[in-house]
Amino acid sequence: MAAICPNCHLPEMIAYVINDTGVHPFPCLECSAGPFRSTPHGQLTGATACATDGCQGSVRDEYQYDAKGRLSKLTRIKCQFCGTDKTGVINAGSTPERVMPDPRLPGFEGRRVRHG
Ligand SMILES: [Zn+2]
Ligand SMILES: [Zn+2]
Repeated sequence: MAAICPNCHLPEMIAYVINDTGVHPFPCLECSAGPFRSTPHGQLTGATACATDGCQGSVRDEYQYDAKGRLSKLTRIKCQFCGTDKTGVINAGSTPERVMPDPRLPGFEGRRVRHG
């Protein structure tokens, strides 16, 4: 299980486990932010673009902290437009077109084998 980072807002960067004692997140794989503690009764939100093609909505993860500032609840908020809870993996500066890989990969061009 993984959640959206409340610091850099990249999706699925905060791995976490849930057990009897609560929610235990690991530091963000991208920015190393650790959302395991905050101010008492604090709340953090990670938001990222919805994964649905053409949808302008967003998917969010809300981190809620208890009286001791420990993460007590992690809630995935679905896209308000299409209802998905899937996150689109976005990188700064990338465009949606880059989701489809170009079949003409460099390296195949110009590699012509001549016989004889
Ligand atoms: Zn991060
Ligand atoms: Zn959506």
